[in-house]
Amino acid sequence: MREFRGFSIDDFSEITYAMVKPDAMCLFDEICQDIERRGFEVLFWQVYQLSRDLAECFYSEHKDKDFYNRLISQMTADPAGILILEKKGTVPCFQVWRGTIGSTNPEFATEGTLRHFYSQKLFGGAEAYKKGEATNCFHGSDSVASVIRESNLVLYNIMMNS
Ligand code: ADP
Ligand code: MG
Repeated sequence: MREFRGFSIDDFSEITYAMVKPDAMCLFDEICQDIERRGFEVLFWQVYQLSRDLAECFYSEHKDKDFYNRLISQMTADPAGILILEKKGTVPCFQVWRGTIGSTNPEFATEGTLRHFYSQKLFGGAEAYKKGEATNCFHGSDSVASVIRESNLVLYNIMMNS
C-alpha cells in the first residue's frame, strides 16, 4: 500500500464544478442526459436553492460589476442544479466543460455548445440574456483552483444545511 499524502491539485483536474442556472432547471433531466452523452460522468447532482450569502460569496470576484445584483437575483430566484462532473483525459476537465458550454454571452456561443442550444430552446436566442431577462443557463469553473474553491464552498454549504 502506498502512503497517503493527501490530495494534490492534479487530482482536481479530472473533475469540474458546474451548475444549471435556475431558469434552465425546467429542462434539468434532459440537460443531465445531454451532459452524459457528451462524455461527462455526473459524480454528484443536487437540486439546491442558493442563499443570498452563498451566491454573494460564490460570485465575490464580480461584486463591483454592473451586472452583479442581477446575477445574484437570478441565481437565488429558484433552485439551481449543482453538478460535479468527471471527464478523464489530457485536457483538464474544467477546460473541456468550458468549451462544451461555450462563451459567456450566448450570442457568441457557437452552435453545438450548451449555452447556444439551451438559450435557443428556452428563450428563443440570446436576446433575453442581453436584455438581462434570462441567464446563460450554465456555470463552469474557470481553473483548477476555482474547481476546488467552488466545489468546497457549495458542497460544504449543502452539507451544513441538510
Ligand atoms: P462565466 O460564467 O462564463 O465564467 P463570468 O465569470 O465572467 O462568466 O461571469 C459570471 C456570470 O455573470 C456569467 O455567467 C453571466 O451570468 C454574468 N455576466 C458576466 N458578464 C456579464 C455581462 N457583461 N452582462 C451581463 N451578465 C454578465
Ligand atoms: Mg466565471
